[in-house]
Amino acid sequence: MSENKNNNENKTTQVQNASTADTSKKTDDYEKICYMCRRPESKAGKMVEMPGNICVCMDCMQKTFDSIQGSTGMQYADLMKLSNLNFVNLSDMHGEIPQRQKLKKKKPKEEKKAEPIFQIQKMPAPHKIKEKLDDYVVGQEHAKKVISVAVYNHYKRIAAMDEKRNSDVEIEKSNMLMIGPTGSGKTYLVRTLAKLLDVPLAITDATSLTEAGYIGDDIESVVSKLLAAADNDVDRAERGIIFIDEIDKIAKKKNTHSRDVSGESVQQGMLKLLEGADVEVPVGANSKNAMVPLATVNTSNILFICGGAFPDLEDVIKERLNKHSTMGFSGELKDKYDKERNILSKVTVEDLRTFGMIPEFLGRLPIIFALEGLSKEMLIRVLKEPKNAILKQYECLLAMDEVQLIFEEDALEAIAQKAMEKDTGARALRAIIEEFMLDIMYEIPKDDNIGRVTVTKAYIENTGGPLIEMRGNSQPALLQK
Ligand code: ADP
Repeated sequence: MSENKNNNENKTTQVQNASTADTSKKTDDYEKICYMCRRPESKAGKMVEMPGNICVCMDCMQKTFDSIQGSTGMQYADLMKLSNLNFVNLSDMHGEIPQRQKLKKKKPKEEKKAEPIFQIQKMPAPHKIKEKLDDYVVGQEHAKKVISVAVYNHYKRIAAMDEKRNSDVEIEKSNMLMIGPTGSGKTYLVRTLAKLLDVPLAITDATSLTEAGYIGDDIESVVSKLLAAADNDVDRAERGIIFIDEIDKIAKKKNTHSRDVSGESVQQGMLKLLEGADVEVPVGANSKNAMVPLATVNTSNILFICGGAFPDLEDVIKERLNKHSTMGFSGELKDKYDKERNILSKVTVEDLRTFGMIPEFLGRLPIIFALEGLSKEMLIRVLKEPKNAILKQYECLLAMDEVQLIFEEDALEAIAQKAMEKDTGARALRAIIEEFMLDIMYEIPKDDNIGRVTVTKAYIENTGGPLIEMRGNSQPALLQK
């Protein structure tokens, strides 16, 4: 009987050992963090482990020891050597460090050499990158071309640095500034790119950024977000992409006498990030004031893409163009450029300076390009052409109920027309479609006999309903609610 019990106990300890081995394997990838000063093991050195998964660094141990002993000159480390006594019992301080505040250890250098994250051979050529982008993004040919070449060069530069080639020629970073109206696909382009390249991406809004010390997010919080997107893996984050949207909102404020903490100061603060610097960022929080560990991230290989609608920039460009054309005897009409649609594509650094961006900031974004506002034809293509086009999504949803969904060409035109009126680019499309698809998605599953639904122009314009066809019946009817 007692033997049996012993056997059982043995088994349970074995199981426990196996599970602890498992978890220790899992947590082995992460650094220990000092519970008191929040520094990771790589900074603070060896840690003393306490019950309750708490670690304390030697410095903090010594401080605690000093405060208990007074300054007798005795070293904590010596005491530890003398006796195996662990007299500070911190196990009463319950609570573990949450997973998202843990820091993944940097891989040893040899391992990195064996398998670099990006290899030139593996990096697709610009035309291949553009081809892939074409599957998702409609139009914007120039933007797609520029971005493909820039990204290709950027990662080629990283590969060259990894292999320590071209040490005397330093290739500059290809940070980008993207100008385009709302809903023209700026965010979508960057998102698609990051997905294709399998690199972490952080998207932030420049409007929430303020100079350090003021209410709002610190500028370095953008790097912190990227680290989170890379699963707290510093190596991966250092090759990621940061997209800062609404960059026009940090233009220098005109006629202000107070400190411009959310405008020019943010541009100033961003300079060192854009150029490449070691920044200490909080892990798992937006602010360094939070009691969280800090990680050092080098931004020299992070690709920064800034985007913005720059609403009044068109006027600035027109004014410049008009100034040139009305000078001299060959003066042209003053309103020559008023009707030109893609005036943004004529943007120069000078125009952006007039708008309120500081020259140092623009100097660090060498690639500047514009996206076109989407025309009605482009909106129709956005509806049906991309790999995950909205219409395809709805067709797929109804196909699961074995119902065929058809959109008449007129209907698509009517949707695009409605979207054009809202003036928010492709963003308006989803809202419009969702509105009229609601009834279809609600009514169709009620009747198993329905085999086909056709969305007509009249339905979009609220003057009729969609055409319904029953299975095995060629006579279409209007949907009865
Ligand atoms: P913004 O330029 O304001 O950042 P977004 O990129 O957020 O605009 O676009 C909103 C949505 O519109 C995207 O999620 C995407 O589905 C769609 N969209 C916009 N432009 C295009 C485009 N050129 N091709 C395909 N879809 C687009």
